[in-house]
Amino acid sequence: MSALGRFFKSLFLLELLRGLRLTGRYLLDRKVTIIYPEEKTPQSPRFRGLHAQRRYPNGEERCIACKLCEAVCPAMAITIEAAPREDGSRRTSRYEIDLTKCIFCGFCEESCPVDAIVETRVFEYFGEKRGDLVKGKEELLSIGDRLEAQIAADREQDAPYR
Ligand code: SF4
Ligand code: SF4
Repeated sequence: MSALGRFFKSLFLLELLRGLRLTGRYLLDRKVTIIYPEEKTPQSPRFRGLHAQRRYPNGEERCIACKLCEAVCPAMAITIEAAPREDGSRRTSRYEIDLTKCIFCGFCEESCPVDAIVETRVFEYFGEKRGDLVKGKEELLSIGDRLEAQIAADREQDAPYR
């Protein structure tokens, strides 16, 4: 652009008018921002949030301590120890997920043969110290108990795509 062109452009504030035209175009459009936390964005049934361990309807824990989730976890966030129970069945004696390592890739739930470890829609959680974000078996089971209805509904909805 010539010097004369630049002079007229700055004299008539053309850049400013172009910017205002863009602002005006979006002024009355539908807003895409939300007022969090009062408003929430829609979530997919595949949302990968806080983990939970599930039980069967009779209350028995699903996990059979096969350790597939531990093996597949790329962040090495899962630690499992297994031992036979009194009835001879194999179960975890320790199941921990370190959420400070987890990258929420979903591999653990994809690999689980009995749908025991799942990721829920919960993303609002916190810890005050590092250890608070290491979730043990009992805590994971109690999260699963609390959210089972939502977890089951999500998996039902997602079933045709699995
Ligand atoms: S979501 Fe991914 S990183 Fe997190 S525990 Fe599962 S496999 Fe590991
Ligand atoms: S949660 Fe699933 S994949 Fe992990 S040890 Fe238990 S049964 Fe195996």
